[in-house]
Amino acid sequence: MLLDYRVLEREYLLAISRALTAELDLGDVLRIIVRAAVELVSGQAGIIALTDPVDEKFRVAAVYGIPPEHIRHFEPLLRGLPYREGAEHEAVPELTRQMTELALEADLGLTQAIRLPMLSGDSVVGMIYVFQSGSYRFRSDAASLLRNFADQAAIAVKNARLYEAVIAEKQRLDAILEQSADGVMILDAHLQITVFNKALSRMTGWRAQDAIGRTHDEVFRWARLETEMDLDLALANGWPLPHAAPLYVEGLLRRPDGSPVSLGITYAPLMDSNNRMTDIIANVRDLTRYREEQELQKTFISVVSHELKTPVSIIKGYAGTLRRDEAEWPPEVLNEYLAVIEEEADRLTDLIDQLLEASRLQSGTFQLETGDVWLPELVHNVTRKFSSQTDIHTFRVQFPDSFPIIQGDERRLTQVLNNLISNAIKYSPDGGEIVVTGSVQREHVLLSVSDPGIGIPEHQKDRIFQKFSRLDNALSRRTEGTGLGLYLTKAIVEAHDGRIWFGENENGRPGTTFTFCLPRDERSQEED
Ligand code: ATP
Ligand code: MG
Repeated sequence: MLLDYRVLEREYLLAISRALTAELDLGDVLRIIVRAAVELVSGQAGIIALTDPVDEKFRVAAVYGIPPEHIRHFEPLLRGLPYREGAEHEAVPELTRQMTELALEADLGLTQAIRLPMLSGDSVVGMIYVFQSGSYRFRSDAASLLRNFADQAAIAVKNARLYEAVIAEKQRLDAILEQSADGVMILDAHLQITVFNKALSRMTGWRAQDAIGRTHDEVFRWARLETEMDLDLALANGWPLPHAAPLYVEGLLRRPDGSPVSLGITYAPLMDSNNRMTDIIANVRDLTRYREEQELQKTFISVVSHELKTPVSIIKGYAGTLRRDEAEWPPEVLNEYLAVIEEEADRLTDLIDQLLEASRLQSGTFQLETGDVWLPELVHNVTRKFSSQTDIHTFRVQFPDSFPIIQGDERRLTQVLNNLISNAIKYSPDGGEIVVTGSVQREHVLLSVSDPGIGIPEHQKDRIFQKFSRLDNALSRRTEGTGLGLYLTKAIVEAHDGRIWFGENENGRPGTTFTFCLPRDERSQEED
C-alpha cells in the first residue's frame, strides 16, 4: 500500500489546528499532537516534554503508546541532553545510547528515537520524541515530516501559557479588588455598575448582585452632600477633562434599611486613546467613625466647658458676695454660702475625676484597687447622701439577710451607685420611690435600681452607654450632666467581670430599671 504522506500530514495538521481553536486544554491538545506525530511516521510511541518555566527542567506533558507505569523510565532522556540549534546530529550517539539503556529497563522493545525541539521564538519550550520499535526504521525524511507538528505544539503551548497568565492576572486583580478594605466600584461609560466589592457591600448595605447592572444614581442617592458636586453635576460641568484630576464627593447616604452612612468617594476616569471615557473607577471610604469622632469632640468641648463653667461661676459669685467690704455677714449666712462654695468645688472635683477616669479608660491605664466590699453598706451610704438632697424622692433598699461580701474596688463601685441613683433622681422629675434591690445567685450578686421616671425610648437603647451621650429630651437639657456617667459605670462593672443592662420596670410601672451583676467570691460560694 502506498501512503501519500503529504495528504496524511495535511489531514493531521488540520485535525490539530481544529483542536487548537476548539479551546481544549493544553494537555488535550498535546495528546492529539503526539498521537498524530507518531502515526504520521508510523512510529510506536511518543512523548511531549515541556520546559518548566520556573526551574527550566523538562517534564513529560503528554504520551502516546507508553503505559503510565513506564513513563518514569523515560526521565533520563529528558535530562542532560541540551538542544543546540544546528547541532542535533551531535546528540544522536547519546540518544542511541540512552535508548539502549531504556530498552533494557522498560522492556518496551523501543529501539530508535527522533526528537524535535518545540521552538517559540528563540526559546525551546519543549521536545517531541517519537520512538520506533523492533527492527523498524524511520523513513529518512521522518524528522522533516515532524517539523510541522513541533511548531504546532509550540504554538499551543505558547497560547495556553498566555491564556493561563491572563487568567491568573485577572483572578489576582479580581481578588485584590474584592478583598480591598476600601470600597471599590467600576462604572462603565453609561454609569452602570460593573464591579462592586465586598467592602462596598458592607458599607452601603447593597449586595453586589443587586448593585451590579444598576446605574450609579440608583445605588448612591445622597441624603446630604458635603462637597459642592456629586458625580452627575460634575459630568454636566464637563468632567473629566483630558488629564483630569479625580473627582472627590463626600456625603451622607441612606442604606436600603434607612440607616445613614457617611461616605467619601474618589472617582477616577479611564480614557481611551481618543480621550473618551470608557470607565470610572471609584474608591469609597466609610467616614462614619471619623464623623462620629468629630461630633464627639464637639460635644466634649461644649459639654465640658458648660459643666466647668457653671460651678466656677457659682463659686465666683458667692465668693465675690462674701468679700464685699461694706457687708457684715451673719454667721448662718456665711455658713450657708461657704457650704455652697464647698459643694460646687466638690462638683468640679467629681467632674475632673470623671474626665480623668474616662481618659484612663481610653489610654488603657485603668486599674482596679480591689478589696472586700459589702454592697448593702455602700448602698446605704449613697442613698443617705442623696436623701438629704431631694424632698420629692424616697428610697426603698432591700437586701436578703445574708448578702455576701464580694471582691471589688470600693471607690469605683460607689461611683457606679452614685451614678445610677443620681440618674434615677434626675430622670424622675415628678419624684416618687426609687427601689434598690440586691439579690444573690450561685455565681453572681445582682443589684438593681428602679425609678418611676421618664423611661428610655427603645430607639435610644444602644446609645445610652456611649461616651458623652445624653438623650435629647427636654429633661437632659434642663439637668446637668456630661453623659459620662453610664459610660464609666459600664466600664467599671465590666472591669469587675460583671455586666450591666436596663429595661422597663417590672409589672408595667412607668420608669426604668438598671441592673448589674458582679461575680461572687469563691469562698462565699462555698458557704452556701
Ligand atoms: P453624668 O452622669 O455624666 O452627670 P448624664 O446623667 O446625663 O451625665 P449618663 O449617666 O451617662 O449621663 O446617662 C446618659 C443619658 O441616659 C442621660 O443623659 C439620660 O438621657 C439617659 N438616662 C440615664 N439614666 C436614665 C434613667 N434612669 N431614666 C431615663 N433616662 C436615663
Ligand atoms: Mg448620670
